[in-house]
Amino acid sequence: MTSSFSNLSLAPELARAVAEMGYETMTPIQEQAIPVVLQGKDVMGAAQTGTGKTAAFALPLLQRMMKHENASASPARHPVRALVLLPTRELAVQVAQQVELYAKYTNLRSTVVFGGMDMKPQTAELKKGVEVLVATPGRLLDHIEAKNAVLNQVEYVVLDEADRMLDIGFLPDLQRILSYLPKQRITLLFSATFSPEIKRLASSYLQDPVTIEVARSNATASTVEQHFYSVGADDKRRALHQILKTRGMKQAFVFVNSKLGCARLARSLEREGLKTTALHGDKSQDERLKALEAFKSGEVDLLVCTDVAARGLDIKDVPAVFNFDVPFNAEDYVHRIGRTGRAGASGLAVSFVASSDQRLVADIEKLIKTKIELEPMEFDSEQPRTAEKFGEQGRINDGRRMYREAENAGSRERPDRRDRREYTPHRQVAVPRDPFFDQPYESNAAPDAQPAWEAAAKVSPARSGMSANIKPKKKIAALFKTAA
Ligand code: AMP
Repeated sequence: MTSSFSNLSLAPELARAVAEMGYETMTPIQEQAIPVVLQGKDVMGAAQTGTGKTAAFALPLLQRMMKHENASASPARHPVRALVLLPTRELAVQVAQQVELYAKYTNLRSTVVFGGMDMKPQTAELKKGVEVLVATPGRLLDHIEAKNAVLNQVEYVVLDEADRMLDIGFLPDLQRILSYLPKQRITLLFSATFSPEIKRLASSYLQDPVTIEVARSNATASTVEQHFYSVGADDKRRALHQILKTRGMKQAFVFVNSKLGCARLARSLEREGLKTTALHGDKSQDERLKALEAFKSGEVDLLVCTDVAARGLDIKDVPAVFNFDVPFNAEDYVHRIGRTGRAGASGLAVSFVASSDQRLVADIEKLIKTKIELEPMEFDSEQPRTAEKFGEQGRINDGRRMYREAENAGSRERPDRRDRREYTPHRQVAVPRDPFFDQPYESNAAPDAQPAWEAAAKVSPARSGMSANIKPKKKIAALFKTAA
């Protein structure tokens, strides 16, 4: 059953904004959460980005704040009343943009603060007074320490993507931030999973929360054709080239496990003639936004990215996703492949499995409850081995202890604490959830734009390292296998 926003008796200013957004009926999370938040109860919500979660908390909070709404220019009349915390700058920007749209006909003000950017413009915004502050934890603490953000009138706190915040290691920051806030408040926590850590967080900071779970649609997953190829580390790039070419893929996401690997792979692929850009946490905010735009506009074909950098981004329906590295966390596998095969469209998810990855594959198998068949990668004989051809080893994950990148607001400011945290690869995951399945992605690339592999083939061998004489594709039985 779906119900209309008109049943909610929202303030006319909010109702107008919602109507303008074109929303007609509420999404399941909105249907369940909005009335509860309007009543002033704490909420523990299992819902991901793409489910309409932002409006589910933002609309009732704005509605509740309407009693304070005023047109005064005085900053004192616009204290921070709602604080929304998110793990990454991209998510923070996305949520802030939505809040701004919902509040556009009110005098309620909002802003966003995140790391990797000059603090001054953010400070200026904060000093003007804002009712809704969207922030990543590290940068918020910086502003609190600099006395730019006064939080003693906060009535509402949203811990969004809480599982990710804990994964990144934000727990101490969250605890500190929450310790600055008034005890009398409404706290909403949204998380993809209710792990024991999340439950502990909730029991510490939420009061009698109403639990709301929105089931993830599994329909998408069945439209994704999944392949796991047994490929030596040195042959992964060659395998990638070959699959792109054989499948006629125009655009793809290529996931790697580390920032260093991400940058290195993007450089190599670019050198090999593929229009490639990298998205990882060491890129400046500006560079990351540019990388995204370039991908969306079809200017680049391959987006090489890390999990945290890609999380929750407003891009979906990518024709293919490559797991250049098998993710350490099985749940990330579900997130990654959820980028493709949406809305009945078929998608391709290819994972390159090195011999050291077997345990990771077993974890994925357990999570997706599907037997994974490792397929041999058969190469066109005309294509030389990547390592021989490009003289650079493609090895990225050598199985040594890895440090999880913390691509978040504070990573630039506190690299020791945030960037060098050891990652525990075998976290148990209860339910495969996918925050990406429902996010919009539209490539503006002309439908007949020249595919990457063709461009690659045309680049002179000296520049690209590609053979100018790539012979017509050989039949690679494994590649043509359809998904079970
Ligand atoms: P979110 O999960 O909050 O990131 O929202 C995902 C997308 O769904 C955003 O583009 C929203 O504008 C859109 N959206 C949210 N609620 C609705 C609704 N009730 N009807 C249609 N679209 C919605």
